[in-house]
Amino acid sequence: MGAGKIFIVGFGPGAEEHITARARDAILAADVVVGYSTYTDLVSSLTAGKEIISTGMTEEIDRAKAATDRAAAGKCVAVVSSGDAGIYGMAGLVYEVLFERGWKGKKAEEGVQGIEVEVVPGVTALSAIGALLGAPLMHDFASISMSDLLTPWPVIEKRIEAAAAADFVIGIYNPQSKRRTWQIKKAQEIILKYRKAETPVGIVKSAYRDAQNLVLTTLDDMCNHPIGMLTTIVVGNSHTFARDGLMVTPRGYENKYVLESGDVLEGQKPGVSLKIN
Ligand code: SAH
Repeated sequence: MGAGKIFIVGFGPGAEEHITARARDAILAADVVVGYSTYTDLVSSLTAGKEIISTGMTEEIDRAKAATDRAAAGKCVAVVSSGDAGIYGMAGLVYEVLFERGWKGKKAEEGVQGIEVEVVPGVTALSAIGALLGAPLMHDFASISMSDLLTPWPVIEKRIEAAAAADFVIGIYNPQSKRRTWQIKKAQEIILKYRKAETPVGIVKSAYRDAQNLVLTTLDDMCNHPIGMLTTIVVGNSHTFARDGLMVTPRGYENKYVLESGDVLEGQKPGVSLKIN
């Protein structure tokens, strides 16, 4: 029967050129590819001839179980998630299912105890949208999911409040779905208690996919734009500025950057000068 392996693969935001070389090799090496159907479709160019187990969005546990069943039977399995599989992805669930079945790390040549696991990191949505918007994540940031399906809303609200109060740049995953519509407005209201109305906000839908759409706006205006399941949002900190359609958070918090021309970048407080070469 032989030992099985589970690759837990984040394939990045969508486009093929953002799949890492290791993620591509893992998917190509797999006998079985397991994932939400939208995801298995996105990597279909790599999966010809393989067994595909694609299930709906809410069937994550079934997917994790199917992956461990196949690996216990000696197969090489790739569990695919978008972005990074360890960030709001499948990695934790696969480990939980394995531990529940008595797995203790690879300890044998076959069966459940023989399963080798490799999590393959990927480009998460937040770094993808950061790249498209400019450089909003240059200083400390917090990432918060607005989905209260698995996390109670009071916990989410507490985290938004804490991140806003501590002046973190805030990345918002799962901002809105057809059924969850009020959470993002509530988040905006909380952040507005601590940040100026004109704080830059970037909203990106379908980063690096065909329907990609970028909006650069402000905190008080953010909810006037379409926000959906495939949108990620970044809210600047008190030093983030917007310029020429780009959103930038200064790296040196209180520093002023003096450019070679002697100009000072707008939107930053004078302080210690830092020469950029
Ligand atoms: N593991 C993924 C996150 C899954 S949670 C990652 O690391 O990126 C699903 C959320 O991710 C979506 O609601 C959306 O907020 C974000 N997302 C995933 N792909 C995206 C893309 N191509 N563009 C913008 N946001 C995306």
